[in-house]
Amino acid sequence: MRSRNRASTNRTHDVIVVGGGSAGYAAARTASDAGADVAIVDQGPLGGLCILRGCMPTKAILRSAEVAALFRRAKEFGLSSVSAQADLSAIVDRKNRLVREFADYRIQQLQDPKLRLYRSRGTFLSPHEISVGDTVLSAGSFILATGSKPNEIQIPGLAQAGYFTSDTILDLRTQPGSLIVLGGGAVALELGQFFARLGTRVTIVQRGRTILTGMDDDVGHALEAALIDEGMEVVLEAQLLRVAHDETGKTVWVMKDGRERSYVGAEILQALGRQPNIEGLRLDLAEVTVDEGRIMVDGAMRTSQAHIYAVGDVNALTPIVHLAIQQGEIAGYNATHVGQPAKKIDHRLDTEVVFTDPQVAVLGLNETRAKSEGIPYLSASYLFADHGKALCLGSAQGFVKLLAATQTGEILGAQIVGPEAGELIHELTAVMYYRGTVADLSRMPHYHPTLAEIVTYPAESIVEQMGAEERDSGRAQRS
Ligand SMILES: Cc1cc2nc3c(=O)[nH]c(=O)nc-3n(C[C@H](O)[C@H](O)[C@H](O)COP(=O)(O)OP(=O)(O)OC[C@H]3O[C@@H](n4cnc5c(N)ncnc54)[C@H](O)[C@@H]3O)c2cc1C
Repeated sequence: MRSRNRASTNRTHDVIVVGGGSAGYAAARTASDAGADVAIVDQGPLGGLCILRGCMPTKAILRSAEVAALFRRAKEFGLSSVSAQADLSAIVDRKNRLVREFADYRIQQLQDPKLRLYRSRGTFLSPHEISVGDTVLSAGSFILATGSKPNEIQIPGLAQAGYFTSDTILDLRTQPGSLIVLGGGAVALELGQFFARLGTRVTIVQRGRTILTGMDDDVGHALEAALIDEGMEVVLEAQLLRVAHDETGKTVWVMKDGRERSYVGAEILQALGRQPNIEGLRLDLAEVTVDEGRIMVDGAMRTSQAHIYAVGDVNALTPIVHLAIQQGEIAGYNATHVGQPAKKIDHRLDTEVVFTDPQVAVLGLNETRAKSEGIPYLSASYLFADHGKALCLGSAQGFVKLLAATQTGEILGAQIVGPEAGELIHELTAVMYYRGTVADLSRMPHYHPTLAEIVTYPAESIVEQMGAEERDSGRAQRS
């Protein structure tokens, strides 16, 4: 099989990782720590999506919008009003400074002498060979971690009108007067709220019944109410038809409630998701199965070729960075422990955070999935509006909801919409990691007054429900 290209193969490694972002670097470090000779192939720019155009730049700019929003509420806190005129260019400069620091650190990590870095695009020649510029590399195992790119959705007139994606809007230095955001997921909502808080008139256009499709409806509704409260327009159940443009702006036409409606904005942000980045890899020559543009993997992160793994956004399992890292570590381990029991991914603690204000954090099982899979559960919610610390902070939108097993009270999942949801969820992750129950959570000491103590209230409610169920079943048995 390898004879045709063998003459041109000029380097061999134990493991070759294609893509040096979060997933790829985690895979390479794990394989190298296990003693393997590891190469990373990355076409650049080095740093990965999370650092260059994802998690970190968005969180840097969101902080500016958060401060501006607080400034505007100065009077509510008994302070004289403060002007919060946004300077988008200065916000972008601050973001760029931070991103440069994060990227420099990642580049240093990739240049670790224990790893061999090839700064070139990788293209498979066969299941065991990949070309990297003029060089042909071979390896016992490959780990694909080439990430994702914005979906290219064909909407008549959109390309002609011009639009931003999250990849391009982060460098915009002139604030648009109005912005139409296509999509209702995390990226659409974070960036939409960012611009709205700087003073841009923002319209979110979403196809689904709620924003944040895939999460429980009450989560989407609570965030939607908060965004509308802030002045954003949210258009739901809108099917995109076409886009027109002239000197007055860009018009998005949708079908809603059985008739055509239009929304006009100075700019459009197309935030309709991302797709795996597999272009040019020649996965056909590697004989790796691809289904609808996605590399299929099993729980050990193996593709249809047992020696080729795929991790992170490229397998489209869970495009979230800590899960990409976890997948990379699993693949790095499995690639260097062939013949031993494989490590497998566990989705029990899968988490997603949306860094809007209020934040959204979801962990493990939700009600939608429990109902569709027939998983019995008890649940209880508690509003931040009834929580003293949230009222003191003036951040009382949203709720905490817990799901627990009916018999044991083991916590199966949690959803939080509210202040610092992305931080608060981690206590629940810790309890779920150790398979703790609602009784454990309600007994754990919580300092007062803190946001964290809110989780004990739904836990206590579920403990009471369990007691009531026990009493009811005892009564039923006696009667
Ligand atoms: C706007 C935005 C905000 C986000 N915010 C968050 C957040 O707050 N929290 C969170 O958990 N997640 C967030 N994400 C998702 C997160 O950024 C990704 O899940 C994660 O960065 C994916 O990492 P990766 O290693 O799979 O891919 P990447 O980091 O994209 O790495 C892929 C690498 O492969 C290289 N490459 C590609 N093709 C080739 C080739 N043929 N040959 C050689 N090299 C190649 C690229 O140069 C790149 O370095 C966000 C995403 C976006 C878009």
